[in-house]
Amino acid sequence: MPDIIRLLPDAVANQIAAGEVIQRPASAVKELMENSIDAGATQVKLIVKDAGKALLQVVDNGMGMSETDARMSFERHATSKIKKADDLYSLQTMGFRGEALASIGSVAQVELKTRLRNLEIGTRLLIEGSEYKSQEPAAIPEGTSISVRNLFFNVPARRNFLKSNAVEIRHIQEEFTRVALSYPEIAFSFHHNDLQVYDLRPGNLRQRIAAVFGTAYNERLVPVEEDTTIMRLEGYVARPEFSKKQRGEQYLFVNNRFIKDNYLHHAITGAFENLITRDVYPGYWLKITIDPSAIDVNIHPTKTEIKWQDDKSVYAIVRAAVKRALGKFSIAPSLDFENERAFDIPLDIMDKRPVQPTIKVDPTYNPFEQEKLQRSTPVQRDWNDRSKIDSWHSMHAKMQRPEYGSEYQQPTELRITSLASEIESLDDERFIQCGSRLGVITAKSALYIVDLPGAHERVLYEQYLKAFSEQVMASQQQLFPPQLEVSPADALLINELMEDLRKLGFDLSPFGNRTFVIQGTPADLTTGEEQKTLFELLGQFRDNEDKLRVSKRENLIRSMARSMSLKSGQTTGSKEIRHLVLQLLECETPRYSVNGKVIFRKIQPEELQRFFEISVEKQI
Ligand code: ADP
Ligand code: MG
Repeated sequence: MPDIIRLLPDAVANQIAAGEVIQRPASAVKELMENSIDAGATQVKLIVKDAGKALLQVVDNGMGMSETDARMSFERHATSKIKKADDLYSLQTMGFRGEALASIGSVAQVELKTRLRNLEIGTRLLIEGSEYKSQEPAAIPEGTSISVRNLFFNVPARRNFLKSNAVEIRHIQEEFTRVALSYPEIAFSFHHNDLQVYDLRPGNLRQRIAAVFGTAYNERLVPVEEDTTIMRLEGYVARPEFSKKQRGEQYLFVNNRFIKDNYLHHAITGAFENLITRDVYPGYWLKITIDPSAIDVNIHPTKTEIKWQDDKSVYAIVRAAVKRALGKFSIAPSLDFENERAFDIPLDIMDKRPVQPTIKVDPTYNPFEQEKLQRSTPVQRDWNDRSKIDSWHSMHAKMQRPEYGSEYQQPTELRITSLASEIESLDDERFIQCGSRLGVITAKSALYIVDLPGAHERVLYEQYLKAFSEQVMASQQQLFPPQLEVSPADALLINELMEDLRKLGFDLSPFGNRTFVIQGTPADLTTGEEQKTLFELLGQFRDNEDKLRVSKRENLIRSMARSMSLKSGQTTGSKEIRHLVLQLLECETPRYSVNGKVIFRKIQPEELQRFFEISVEKQI
């Protein structure tokens, strides 16, 4: 048999590397900007066309490259930053793998213009799909400019895989933000389709955060500072009340590199214990400076993950420092939210022991009891073990289908009506809130438990669905229309959703690049909540876009229902609970939340009675 193994041509090897390093336009932005920083630039300009699909250009005033280096820079494993393996443990630069330019050059049309500081003339080089097209001397400003055109032009599968412009520009903005936050002392600007998105002047971290996220952030920041022999920690956390339902404002930098680290994320959020509910994420912008030999950055092609030599100490220091910072600003005692525990207790009561199968006729049968029939294998659980309950929750969620087909929608009109009329006949005082999100209804023959935020979300969701088919959402015009200032990516998103938002009652009109005037809002939105609700809506929309495979319209309806609905921890009066439950019973799918969790249950007295039958030995 002949020999069949051969070395891959460079162009192919580069494309394979590009698959890991350059996943989308935003990854190229990150690599190019980091190169500019490594070149000692004090000004970095990002120019983007068509969300990076047409053009990405980074211009810097760094040290530039010689003619030969310019050519070399596109070779694989070509780097000026390390010489030997040992250097990996004393890294002072963002780059070191020598892969980025080779990768970008293999999947795009690239123009490099560069001039060394002490030379009069520079060089201009064209490369396309790993092929050198030309190189010639050229008069160019000091520094380097790299233009990347038609990314993935020669890899149609990847090109087709790119998401909408709104999504891609959001990723670009995120990478830009990460780099801009790592180096507040460097000036950065960002243009998209000839609009200036950011113009960030040199300053300190606090000023940079305010410039990127809005001046309002200035007031929200709590400084964190800790100097130990192992590491130095500095930066800010957002005051707990500004925590958000969506991730997105969590920034951790290690030696100026943005890092994703769930373990340390846990340390930071852990420091907020008892200050925030479980369903929100605190904002943070924290920088760790540590001896490079105590970490390993070279474990992931995009260099966003690291390995710690002593992660436990780092964890402890970070957690303690954030906790102390929050305490120092005497935030700790003033707030006392209850932790969210949706349905822990009622589910436990009912599933502690298998239900004896007995045949009996239940005159008060109602469709909400189908739950019992479905669950044939009882799950044994430890009452105090939160993790087991959680995993059971997720298993339970999986058992239910997120979209509700006919099987749950079979209840006869009669049963629903009789339940509704039973509930309608109850006095107000039988509806009470229990904990941060449960409503309890004590009827004569049973208890009903409703997850209030989930129920509200369900009611709104069905209302909005109807609004789309019938176009009847009422909008109230604003007498003094408030303004909404958003990130460039969100501005793009709003423009995309504008028509549909109007159908749901949000009447927005553009006012400059990043600002919208809120002309009208849904009739049931409280005045003063406009901006907050819209921000939440956009955040939710983005979140869903990543997690769910639903149409844009469905996503909008879901996001709107979520952002307009009651929040966990909000107090709800008896009358409102009653009204909500009656509205819920009119829904097509009253038992399930939009995400497929049970939101309404009946508990029979016998089920509660079992509580009192457990003998002492068994309890122990
Ligand atoms: P790495 O950054 O890992 O070294 P890259 O492929 O990103 O690898 O870049 C290769 C080399 O090209 C760098 O080591 C550097 O010497 C040079 N280079 C890239 N971009 C610039 C720039 N903007 N200014 C000066 N030199 C640059
Ligand atoms: Mg690099």
